[in-house]
Amino acid sequence: MSESTTVKDMRRANRAQLLRHLVRGGESSRSALGEVTGLSPATVTNVISDLIADGIVIEQGQGITKPAGGRPRVLVDVKRDAAWMFGADVGENAVTVGLFDLTMNRIGERTYPFPSRRITPDEVMGLIEQGTIELLAGHRGTRPPVLGLGLGVPGIVQTSIDEDGHRHDVVHAQVIGWESESFDELSQRLGMRVFIDNGAKTTTEAESWFGSIRGEADGIVVLIGTGAGAGIVSNGALVRGSSSSAGEWGHTKISTDGVRCRCGARGCVETFVGAAAVLDAWRERGAGTENAEPHAVGELFAEAETGSPRAVHAVEDLVDHLGIALSNLVNLYNPRHIVLAGWFGDVIATHRLDAVTAAVKQNSLSVAAADVTIGRSSLGATAVALGAAILALDEFISSGESLPGPSSPPEVSRTISPQHPKGQ
Ligand SMILES: [Zn+2]
Repeated sequence: MSESTTVKDMRRANRAQLLRHLVRGGESSRSALGEVTGLSPATVTNVISDLIADGIVIEQGQGITKPAGGRPRVLVDVKRDAAWMFGADVGENAVTVGLFDLTMNRIGERTYPFPSRRITPDEVMGLIEQGTIELLAGHRGTRPPVLGLGLGVPGIVQTSIDEDGHRHDVVHAQVIGWESESFDELSQRLGMRVFIDNGAKTTTEAESWFGSIRGEADGIVVLIGTGAGAGIVSNGALVRGSSSSAGEWGHTKISTDGVRCRCGARGCVETFVGAAAVLDAWRERGAGTENAEPHAVGELFAEAETGSPRAVHAVEDLVDHLGIALSNLVNLYNPRHIVLAGWFGDVIATHRLDAVTAAVKQNSLSVAAADVTIGRSSLGATAVALGAAILALDEFISSGESLPGPSSPPEVSRTISPQHPKGQ
């Protein structure tokens, strides 16, 4: 590697480190940035000047005044409307598309429910296209460039980069009938870069940047809905495995028998802790609810509050199995914190967080059990789409590139002013 390449790489790494810190941590003084990143004051000053010149960072005017009459420190922050990103979530019952600014504040969101369990990749691409068009429709004329779209999907995503540097994502989602599906067409349809990852992993990124495991080197996010998945942060990095399938916790086995899972096997975690499985167990004991999942789950926990044996039994069974399944993660990864995310995870955390925590501690080795805490998601249902948008943002940050010129899907907006809009 030539010396100039090394210097260039170092500049890019410093720029990425400072920008990532500003996005994750919010406004800061230059000296505070130096302290947390370990970069020299001169490096911080140079890089921030470059970022200001590029229109990505702004000075916030007079900030904190030092005590004892010191000079007031000027704060710098990411320029909110310097660029936007889309984040989309292919959930169990709906496709959601969100539009975010550079501080990851959500500008708008569209949700498209789909009635059947199965949705084709082509339908997904159509809904996402519709969402991006609708979300940008209110911003004709002047708006910042869009860095790309991130997409969270319920499956394993394998990414490769071809000889020309183009990214190809292949999605394997056995449980919803997707086998080696390509979404390459989406980038052309939208006229922007597209980044795809597993939904539990995008949720984990969101929780790690802005949520319940913010800054945590060892944390786990479990996403529980009809099915279950996990994102594992170990030593500060998301565990991906050799073919990006790490974290398929929902299909780890905690029994040699039981009902058949959507993956074809028996004994999977999601056949004990997924909402569908828990409701089936309740119905088998005589519950007559005809309601769909989220509503029926509400009825189950309400009935359990009354002491009804069949509901109490279904909920206790859930807590016992979830305790075992989570304790396996505790013994394997020794996390400091576990987040119960996903719509059903959130319900469980609301009603039975203490019981789940006790079950996890009881089933874990004592050293690991002493360390771990369990809590709920602070981001809620938007975490998947937010984390997906982070994919597009993080790629931009890592690249060290300047902002792209204002551009947009051709059918949406034609007149772009070089000025960044002040409002939304
Ligand atoms: Zn399974």
